Amino acid sequence: MIFQPPRLVPIGGMRTPEGLPQAEARLELGPAVRVRFAPSPTGYPHVGNIRTALFNWLFARHGRGVFILRIEDTDVARKVEGAVEAIMAGLKWLGLDWDEGPFLQSQRLDIYEKHARWLVDNNHAYYCWCSPQRLEAMREEQVRRKQPPGYDRHCRDLSDKEKAERAASGVRPVVRFKTPLEGQMVFTDLIRGEVAFDNSTLDDFVMLKSDGYPTYHLANVVDDHLMRISHVMRADEWLSSTPRHKLMYQAFGWELPQFAHLPMILGPDRSKLSKRHGATSITEYQEQGYIPEAMFNFLALLGWSLDDKTELMSREQIIESFTIERISKTAAIFNREKLDWMNGAYLRQMSSGEYAARVLPFMEKHLPASAARPLDAAYLAKVIPLVQERARTLAEVPSLTDFFFGGDLVYETALLTSRTMDAAKAVEALKSAAAVLGPPENWNETKLEELLRAEAVRLNFSNRDYFGVLRVAVTGRTASPPLVPVMVVLGREQCLERVKSALRKLGVTA
Ligand code: GLU
Repeated sequence: MIFQPPRLVPIGGMRTPEGLPQAEARLELGPAVRVRFAPSPTGYPHVGNIRTALFNWLFARHGRGVFILRIEDTDVARKVEGAVEAIMAGLKWLGLDWDEGPFLQSQRLDIYEKHARWLVDNNHAYYCWCSPQRLEAMREEQVRRKQPPGYDRHCRDLSDKEKAERAASGVRPVVRFKTPLEGQMVFTDLIRGEVAFDNSTLDDFVMLKSDGYPTYHLANVVDDHLMRISHVMRADEWLSSTPRHKLMYQAFGWELPQFAHLPMILGPDRSKLSKRHGATSITEYQEQGYIPEAMFNFLALLGWSLDDKTELMSREQIIESFTIERISKTAAIFNREKLDWMNGAYLRQMSSGEYAARVLPFMEKHLPASAARPLDAAYLAKVIPLVQERARTLAEVPSLTDFFFGGDLVYETALLTSRTMDAAKAVEALKSAAAVLGPPENWNETKLEELLRAEAVRLNFSNRDYFGVLRVAVTGRTASPPLVPVMVVLGREQCLERVKSALRKLGVTA
């Protein structure tokens, strides 16, 4: 990590309008990089949201800066119960710690109101009393005439008399920004380069609603300024809001932060990422047995890369090499198989003790009731290494290992036979295996393996057939970890019991 000595930095806007909070007009000893993650709690945080959080966090940590959490909860109608907690839990799970916040915009309403009023007083904004009915009729008319949608500026140039009348009517107005009718808004996006919007395409958007709540635009800009955000790094979908934001910065006389709009995340079919592709809430990944280290690595590569080949990278390596220049301009593809592969790779690297500790909650929760609780730690320590190589997620482990934990196996008799193994042959193989499993002195891995192989040869079975039928008898399934180690963990009695039970299924009663 490169050491950056603290230095004096000018904070936020230089020219603070009279009558507004002065917090920004001072010099402070502090880091130059200040970024924020500003989710709206309108749902549970999904992959896209968390990738935005991660990139901001990485940028802050790389630059020894500050990462701020700000909850943009001013859309009361769309607020989802529990979403704030889920956002914070998701960040914590991935280890994305914040240095300041969480700030809740709903607790800062007076600040936005004050700023909206200042804009009105300084002729950058105006009150609008248009009724919902009038706006609806306006919209219908625009559709009919095939005109672009947008407010028709009805209240923009009301005379003082008209304003006074409307104010006296008791109808609570909204505050709209007075967008210049001509000209262009040009800004440089750190990822996309120069971006330009014609002001004529922007309407006089609402900044403050009639209930006193700010819209996203107002609250976002005011807070980015007051919180002295140096870089606004956010999802691509906000790009078209940026010219409006720049207009507001100009109206306030504030310095513009840098902008970086992150590439979209698409599904493998290149359509917008949806639940179908796995864009579920981040907590679901946790429940599905993905581990935060793998998720962190995977998300970091959604739109950022070190080079065109390195996939597995530690947290420290990613922090070290995370720069905006390496963020891609083109959309990232969310590939669930890659996540599974990566998760499996992280799981295999883990020490067996660590692995056992992480998988335990999944075992407690998902193993059948036949596995006595609390689970026997010593027994688990023998079982778990047998699947560590195989499982891609921790949640798979209980179902890969449930046969270690129960008395009677439930499986179809048909599994014991196959095209090359009719019932008579299956009986022959299982009887010979039982003879090998009987003597206690045969019970070590090497010896069992040797004796069973010799039996297969003697009876002219392929290994596949011989071990196949034994595997079904002992585990109840056609695929399992290596059979002999499995049997050694299960133990002599249980294996013999299961082989006998398989023989009974095949009609052998003795
Ligand atoms: N509240 C917005 C969101 O939910 C934040 C956009 C921004 O970062 O400016 O994504």
